[in-house]
Amino acid sequence: MLVDGVPLVRRRRLSVGVLIALAVIAWCFASWLLAERLVSERTNLLIEREQDAVSSAAAAVGANAGFALAHMSHIPKVLARQPEIETILARLGSGMSRISLAPPQLRGLLEKDAGLSRLAKRLEAMVADLGVDQVMVIDDSGNCIASGGFPRAATATGVNYLDREYFTKAKRDGVGQQFAVGRTTRTPGIFYSAAVTSGSRFLGVIAVKIDVSRLARLVSDANAFITDENGVVIIAGDRGFYMKSVPGAWVKRLSEGEQLRRYQRREFETLAIEPVDVHGIRLVRLEGRRAPMLEALSYSQADMLKIWVFRDLSELLRIQREGRWLWLVLLVAGASLIASVGAAIRYLRRGREHQVEIARINEELVALNDELKVHACFDSLTGCRNRRYFLEEVDNELKRSARFAFPCCVAVLDIDHFKAVNDEHGHAAGDVLLKHFAQTVGACLRSSDSLGRLGGEEFALLLPQTTLEGAVELAERVRSAVECSSVRDGVIEVRVTASIGVERWRGADDSVESLLVRADHAMYAAKHDGRNRVNVQATSSNLSLFADG
Ligand code: GH3
Ligand code: MG
Ligand code: MG
Repeated sequence: MLVDGVPLVRRRRLSVGVLIALAVIAWCFASWLLAERLVSERTNLLIEREQDAVSSAAAAVGANAGFALAHMSHIPKVLARQPEIETILARLGSGMSRISLAPPQLRGLLEKDAGLSRLAKRLEAMVADLGVDQVMVIDDSGNCIASGGFPRAATATGVNYLDREYFTKAKRDGVGQQFAVGRTTRTPGIFYSAAVTSGSRFLGVIAVKIDVSRLARLVSDANAFITDENGVVIIAGDRGFYMKSVPGAWVKRLSEGEQLRRYQRREFETLAIEPVDVHGIRLVRLEGRRAPMLEALSYSQADMLKIWVFRDLSELLRIQREGRWLWLVLLVAGASLIASVGAAIRYLRRGREHQVEIARINEELVALNDELKVHACFDSLTGCRNRRYFLEEVDNELKRSARFAFPCCVAVLDIDHFKAVNDEHGHAAGDVLLKHFAQTVGACLRSSDSLGRLGGEEFALLLPQTTLEGAVELAERVRSAVECSSVRDGVIEVRVTASIGVERWRGADDSVESLLVRADHAMYAAKHDGRNRVNVQATSSNLSLFADG
């Protein structure tokens, strides 16, 4: 079938194909949304869990550091109250006169003092007991007059610490603390200090130092570190981070002199901590780490230390990878299902189209059969029943008449001198006349009557439930109608007459053949009697009607 010049079947297939493609595209999008949603939910759960873990880890490190350092910060306070130290500092008086001396000379001078030598020995012994690395007694001008815990070659005795924050803070506030790299030892550590006073008079400062190496146990995690108040990493689980500065650290704003004094260096590489956004969650990427990380901070306020703890979120990468796989699996499974459903729809549609096609072919076959039946039963020239079909009908009718005891008659009709018509007007005109004859006879009949062409110009009538009288009456009407009608051949009018033999059925023993033979005989008798008349078999009835000549 065609619609707008395009085969309808083709158009349907095309639309199913387009529908499948659209469904696959829609599913592609929907499955992506679904996978994204699952990834997002899992990510949120993971981050929620890890956030708690990292925050508590940072808080724990902060609390541990605070506890450990608070303990250390008390040591100089206790030492500052030792009468021996107070007495010595008071005895030595103001250190201003000693400031101009170079450290070795001053050390030589101080070591000669018996009291200071004793104190130095005590300090040396104290260091191990107190769990600190170095201890210094500094006079009011910043000169270290006695020390313990230093290597001989790097002793602090004789060195001036006036520029150290832990000295100035203790002088000002009574206590102080500071991260610094040791001036003589070159080792980093946290210094705690306390002022030694006599009444309101400032006599000097006691300072203790805890090496960073001792504090390293506070940070065992490679992803955690501690910065000082200037943002410099002073303790780190990862040795590579040590002495680097965090982004935006204050240390970069210190003068070179300040940097040198405190850290014994001027270069501070910035530790890379870059923000990254994962599903709308702010994470960070830490130097040298592949996975994004969660960050948590805590503070050890009193010590001005900041604790940085990072939590590796490599599980996040796994979740994202699984999400991509899930999407792929959903996509393939959904697309296969859609394709299968589409194929099934196409198959069913094709089946329906085949059914329609088969029904159409069947209709054509029925029509063809009907046509064949017409050809097989009816005469193609006149349209009346052919001989075979007519005889079949007569046979059936005789059986019906026998069953119901109906009367039945037949008549045989033959056109008079038909050969002459053919000869005078031609065979085609003869055909036209035959057709016209059949129509003329047919017009005289009831619907139950049948007209058959027995052959040539000889016809027969089947008249069911008709008595002989009725049959003769009808035959006469037919004869008269034929006689009165004419056919035109150009300007000439062609007229014919017919001779008709009528015969009645004589009961169950009477056959089709003998009935028609008798009617035929009656017809020939009519011919013999002069044509254009109706004749009844003399033996059946004495009825014999003749038309006028
Ligand atoms: P009669 O009065 O004795 O019956 O004379 P008739 O000429 O009718 O009889 P005849 O049997 O001698 O001639 C019949 C003619 O009918 C012979 C034949 O050519 C013609 N005929 C038979 N069938 C057809 C047909 O289908 N078409 C035409 N045009 N002529 C036919
Ligand atoms: Mg004839
Ligand atoms: Mg004849």
